[in-house]
Amino acid sequence: MIIIKTPEEIDLMRESALIVSRTLGIVASEIKPGITTLSLDKLAEEFIRDQGAEPGFLGLYDFPNTLCMSPNAQIVHGIPNDTPLNEGDIISVDCGALKNGFYGDHAYTFEVGEVAEETKKLLQITKESLYVGMREFRAGNRVGDVGSAIQNYTEKHGYGVVRELVGHGLGKVMHEDPEMPNYGRRGRGKKFKEGMVVAIEPMINMGTQRINQLKDGWTILTADGKPSAHFEHDVAIINGKPELLSTFKYIYDALGISSNEEEEFRS
Ligand code: MG
Ligand code: MG
Repeated sequence: MIIIKTPEEIDLMRESALIVSRTLGIVASEIKPGITTLSLDKLAEEFIRDQGAEPGFLGLYDFPNTLCMSPNAQIVHGIPNDTPLNEGDIISVDCGALKNGFYGDHAYTFEVGEVAEETKKLLQITKESLYVGMREFRAGNRVGDVGSAIQNYTEKHGYGVVRELVGHGLGKVMHEDPEMPNYGRRGRGKKFKEGMVVAIEPMINMGTQRINQLKDGWTILTADGKPSAHFEHDVAIINGKPELLSTFKYIYDALGISSNEEEEFRS
């Protein structure tokens, strides 16, 4: 069942989303060769608690940490550890926060030092596909409109769209209806309405769409060992149109990037 949010609830959800956004900004400022994902996880947990929020993933389905940290061929759900990041790695960081009873949930894939050109392109196209999908999240459109837009945009570059993991409705529960696949057919699936809030999150592989899972029961990685990227935003339908609750602004501030990519999704 899709749960529609009131404007007041959407304001609370924006607060939760922005706690995650600021957490990712702090992570962004610390990512460099030699740092461990576990040390970043501790920083994130401290910051989230300082905001009067709870880490959204810690303990959710028994996940052991605050951040999902998935380097290189890992797609999502990687567990932070003591292995230092290396020059040329990419690292997908997914973060959740719970405040006032509502979840925020978003993700960004970072470059560690200088990465290969073809990897940079994977990150760029995956992030662009997030916005391509978000444009379809408007009243009267359907789940398949978002999925097919992301799929078409990424597959034309020869990339693989992960099938087993999908975006989702977001609210008092981390994973609400509807499921939001990153593939699909235009005009199919549940219809979008005013007051819906979803997490749109393309997970795009440089090579095959096929996946494996590590024996830890969590980590999902590409079957061919090639890199994978993951970008996620929290989006509401307000006045019929997609409006961002989360922002990459804090990441861009930390990395010295200037961007107006989010402007069309603000009222
Ligand atoms: Mg997430
Ligand atoms: Mg999510």
